Amino acid sequence: MINSDQQVSDKHRIKCSTAQLPIRLLLGPGPSNLHPRVNQQLITPMIGYTDVNYFKVMDETMELMRYLFQTDNHFTIPISGAGTAAMECCVSNLIEPEDVVVCLVAGYFSDRIHQQAVRYGSKIQRIEKKWGQYFSLEEIKEQLEKHRPKLLTMVFGETSTGIKQPMQGVGELCHQYDCLLMVDTVAALGGVPFFVDQWKVDACYTGGQKCLSGPPGISPLTFSPRACKKIAERKTPIANWYLDATLLAGYWCPEYNFATSQITSPQPLRRYHHTTPANLIYALRESILLVSEEGIENTWNRHRSAAHQLYQGLARIGLEPLISELNDKNDLGGRLYSLTTVKVPEGIDAKLFMKSLLDKHNIEIAGGIGELAGKIWRVGLMGFNANNSNVTLLLSTLEETLK
Ligand code: PLP
Repeated sequence: MINSDQQVSDKHRIKCSTAQLPIRLLLGPGPSNLHPRVNQQLITPMIGYTDVNYFKVMDETMELMRYLFQTDNHFTIPISGAGTAAMECCVSNLIEPEDVVVCLVAGYFSDRIHQQAVRYGSKIQRIEKKWGQYFSLEEIKEQLEKHRPKLLTMVFGETSTGIKQPMQGVGELCHQYDCLLMVDTVAALGGVPFFVDQWKVDACYTGGQKCLSGPPGISPLTFSPRACKKIAERKTPIANWYLDATLLAGYWCPEYNFATSQITSPQPLRRYHHTTPANLIYALRESILLVSEEGIENTWNRHRSAAHQLYQGLARIGLEPLISELNDKNDLGGRLYSLTTVKVPEGIDAKLFMKSLLDKHNIEIAGGIGELAGKIWRVGLMGFNANNSNVTLLLSTLEETLK
């Protein structure tokens, strides 16, 4: 019985029915629409986190993520959290308070990495370029030479500007300077060619909700043996308990030794760290399984083909892309296939235009953020949504709404 002098308040006890949301075509910077097979996984029955059937799903998810990242890294796990949590996992594990770090900043998300980095380290160098630009190899070399950092951070596909950072030679350079390389691929992985091992990237992460057509809130992450060794040799504790990679490994891959990269056999028992979001993990597994069934090169080509159709259509209806450099080669910088930024023509209210697309046609695109607010629209062709029929529909709707 509840004590009579305690009274339940009904102040917040609102009456509402089960949520019913409109079905939209999500052609903004993410989330993209879920693939039906992924959606189905979200209603799969719950299972305990020590069930052997769940362990099998975990192992398969890790292996599929290695395919997605194009890596052999043993420490390749999904972070239970948004892309921002995976970002913070990298930053909190790889930065010690006295480490010199160089953050390359040319957009909203590279700025976010910098904002996180200054919370974990006191010697963070912010190297800034105008939004919409990328960093050349010479510029990166100059910064490595000048600051001799322990860690270099960058964004591969910058969602706020639609630029793709070229990766050619960056990893080799970082190795030469004994520096770890951390790369954000949230808006690109699965849609644009990226090779963690071949490009010598030490820390990389993405989100489920963009080019994978998966749910938000679950974020693949991988650390190279060099990154794991750095973590094992830290002199200071990792300041973030939830994202401490050594504790997460206790559940995901207890057989892995961070200091030596050796694998213990048989696998020690998995230790509870936090209750992982089982359905999000099933859904993520399914979304990467779809990429694997299609073949990742075909997935990249599908994104490229949809983007090219969009570029041609935009030119035909008189809309100009923000990023003029196209660069069709794998690891050159220029336009990001998965996210195209378009200049808002003179005399058009960017917000009203987007509202009209949403209200009349159920199509979501996004506006600019930060210094590009009101100046651009952002069109995402990500994952399942990156196909020619969506582009045809979008172009005819844009044309009609512009009239
Ligand atoms: N990095 C990039 C490039 C992004 O586009 C985003 C999200 O849009 C993030 C990081 C953060 O991801 P999330 O919103 O899942 O935290």
